[in-house]
Amino acid sequence: MRLALSALILAASAAPAASQTLIPAPLPAASLTCAAVHLPKLPVCVATPRGLIFAPDRVEAERNAAFARAGEARFKRHFGRDTPPYALIIGQLTPDVRTTLRAAGIKAVLPWITADQQRAAYAEAVRRAAEARAKAAGPDSNKTAQAAVRAPQAAGLLDRNASIVPHELGHVWLIEAFWPGSGLDRAGHYGGPAADWLDETAAILMEDEQGTAERRDQFRLLYTGRARGAIQGRPDPLPIFLSKDHPMKNQQQMLQARAAASGSGAPQIVMMTETVRAGTGPGVDIGAGPRFYLQGRAFADFLIDRSGKAAIFADIATALARGASFEQWLAAEGQAHGLGSSLTETEALWRTWLQARFGPAAPGA
Ligand SMILES: [Zn+2]
Repeated sequence: MRLALSALILAASAAPAASQTLIPAPLPAASLTCAAVHLPKLPVCVATPRGLIFAPDRVEAERNAAFARAGEARFKRHFGRDTPPYALIIGQLTPDVRTTLRAAGIKAVLPWITADQQRAAYAEAVRRAAEARAKAAGPDSNKTAQAAVRAPQAAGLLDRNASIVPHELGHVWLIEAFWPGSGLDRAGHYGGPAADWLDETAAILMEDEQGTAERRDQFRLLYTGRARGAIQGRPDPLPIFLSKDHPMKNQQQMLQARAAASGSGAPQIVMMTETVRAGTGPGVDIGAGPRFYLQGRAFADFLIDRSGKAAIFADIATALARGASFEQWLAAEGQAHGLGSSLTETEALWRTWLQARFGPAAPGA
């Protein structure tokens, strides 16, 4: 399902960011054992080398632990260090679960949903999209029926968890590994204190081989002007890509506001599939988010190719976490890594690299 590529899962938590300075330093991963943390509503725990996976049943725990383990290896490869100790909560991250995890010294936490919850969320998204289309098309339309036919795609979405779960963990790991204690920035950038392109690229680097291959294929279509549908458009010039806000930022803030208003403290997890985004209204560029991901994948490949270093992101994240801008990092280290010493020089190398890899750019690219 090609468009599942653009399926983006946003996880937002209403848990307050306050009092984070009081949280004890994370335990070394060696002390992270299932025996140390007891969560009554999530009775099954599986330990990975760096984290604990909690779920309501064994199947969910093992399945997600496999996704997480693969992500841990990718994080090490691209960021040159182990992931911070973390917990993956499959089911519901309630305030008492958060409290228990904090007491155990686990600060990096990702709430996720069970396969059943995912199916239900997808069915709901399809239903709402069908309603919106029927409303827009008028009573004589058969659009409702057409949308309903797409429900089986939920199964395809579940297959994407091998990519999506490590992706979402990547957001959490980047922040806790390089900006420890800052948590998810709920007012500023999309995911955290990192620049949005780096935050998203870190997550994209955690995706599995299938997801990675599909992003590359789609980027090729985008770059050569053959992309159709929502992602039709062109890659951004590098200075724009590297400085822009995440195109999904507004949706993220909407979710956070909704979660805060609910007062439950429970995570709100929404699948922003094509069907959901179809309801975002006229004039909204619904392809901007997906294109940002595709360019993130391509730019990551460019950085790795030019530097010859899979862990080039460790250098960049370290510099940015110290307060440098990407331009300052380029000026100091760019040439040593096969990049330019300025954005202008790097953009020229980027265009040359694109042409060598994909051929001539489409007009306007
Ligand atoms: Zn992401």
